[in-house]
Amino acid sequence: MRYADRVAGISWETIEEVRQRLKERPALHFIAGEFVPSESGETFPSLDPATNEVLGVAARGGEREVDRAAKAAHEAFQRWSRTKAKERKRYLLRIAELIEKHADELAVMECLDAGQVLRIVRAQVARAAENFAFYAEYAEHAMEDRTFPVDRDWLYYTVRVPAGPVGIITPWNAPLMLSTWRIAPALAFGNTVVLKPAEWSPFTATKLAEILQEADLPPGVFNLVQGFGEEAGAALVAHPLVPLLTLTGETETGKIVMRNAADHLKRLSPELGGKSPALVFADADLERALDAVVFQIFSFNGERCTASSRLLVEEKIFEDFVGKVVERARAIRVGHPLDPETEVGPLIHPEHLQRVLGYVEAGKREGAKLLVGGERAKTSFRGEDLSRGNYLLPTVFVGENHMKIAQEEIFGPVLVAIPFRDEEEALKKANDTKYGLAAYVFTRDLERAHRLALELEAGMVYLNSHNVRHLPTPFGGVKQSGDRREGGTYALDFYTDLKTIALPLRPPHVPKFGKEGR
Ligand code: NAD
Repeated sequence: MRYADRVAGISWETIEEVRQRLKERPALHFIAGEFVPSESGETFPSLDPATNEVLGVAARGGEREVDRAAKAAHEAFQRWSRTKAKERKRYLLRIAELIEKHADELAVMECLDAGQVLRIVRAQVARAAENFAFYAEYAEHAMEDRTFPVDRDWLYYTVRVPAGPVGIITPWNAPLMLSTWRIAPALAFGNTVVLKPAEWSPFTATKLAEILQEADLPPGVFNLVQGFGEEAGAALVAHPLVPLLTLTGETETGKIVMRNAADHLKRLSPELGGKSPALVFADADLERALDAVVFQIFSFNGERCTASSRLLVEEKIFEDFVGKVVERARAIRVGHPLDPETEVGPLIHPEHLQRVLGYVEAGKREGAKLLVGGERAKTSFRGEDLSRGNYLLPTVFVGENHMKIAQEEIFGPVLVAIPFRDEEEALKKANDTKYGLAAYVFTRDLERAHRLALELEAGMVYLNSHNVRHLPTPFGGVKQSGDRREGGTYALDFYTDLKTIALPLRPPHVPKFGKEGR
């Protein structure tokens, strides 16, 4: 394991301790303040994507565990929703500090379990802490709303109240960052939580539960049930004591969850898949565009919801620009996720690797031209053997927008480059997708940039930039990428109920039914 000598700032002991911990201690559920196994005693394994060896096991929860967690969250909600905002703020700040304290352990765990590379994971752990620190500041003032005086006779006003326990269902690509992105506002605004993390990367969720316990969060405010989507996930969606659901996952899962949640008329915040276009015009700062599109598709091993997986390039620079993308793709450092110089690590699971390779085959069958990659990486950039892991070489195709590889979310390091003639055609192709999460435009023509920003069917448009999150701004997609907005105070619409309160300031006229006829 030569990489260990080079792990910047993380000691070899920490890595070994984390490996040992994962091997020896199952990732348990956390219910009503206690770490517990499943009643059945069942567990499931989680694999190291770098070798496909079993890293450790997690408790396999189902209806019973979800029922206990939902009851605990329901009971705790009665108190937590009445806890003073200042106090909730203190808890959130403490959690942020503790995430920072445990940052190395969390980073190593996430690298090993999710296969995300150290440089990305370090930033994700910092973001997890920031999610809590950020929403701590909102805890005190976010519930304020509006007043509506009606002449001198009436006063109407609106307040926000916590809406209830939230079921949070998360994916495997950035487990810690994505779960804390939902947990932090939920807790800040007075809700309690039942988290169901993805079965392919269960470990940092249990570590997070330990951190929340260390922060002395009252029992039942945060609960965790490990397990599979069709078992624990479905039970959470169906549980009558959990009125709010957030799902970060695939669009197809979103449809299933939405259907099942409809039986209980639950409020659902879906953050789903994407097939985001990057539009590169000939007048753009092409060096910046190159950096951004390469980073945007190949970072996170290509397992990124906002990946710019369709690269639309103006015809007259197409060959040259795509040639440079290919050069960069070929030089990307594929290697072990704990190596600080690795840029692309292994895909999460052998099944996912097969799925992504299936798309590569589909691309070839449909006549797309494979320019680079398209196969498993055999050795790392340092010459280490990668054959046991789920490594795929960064892949670039030239294709057409109607092709499967341009229409479906691949969720791997696979880019499809497509030429366009003019702005009109670029827009048409960009919008010709069922998804609408993000879009990227590269041009020096400011009018065109803003014109396109208005016309692109996407929840978020980045002009001359990759995706840089600013937490107060709304995050979310349109079309089949989702329909809610989280971030800043926008999250309030989901986590709180808006209540209208009316007060007459003098005796109001009330028709006296039953009195006049006597
Ligand atoms: P997935 O849909 O397979 O699983 C997501 C979660 O849903 C997991 O916890 C899974 O166990 C659970 N689940 C599956 N079936 C369920 C059911 N019937 N009932 C309840 N829960 C169920 O997604 P994934 O493969 O883990 O993650 C990748 C997907 O997530 C990609 O499509 C990606 O674009 C998307 N994603 C979106 C965002 C965003 O913000 N829009 C962010 C990250 C990832």
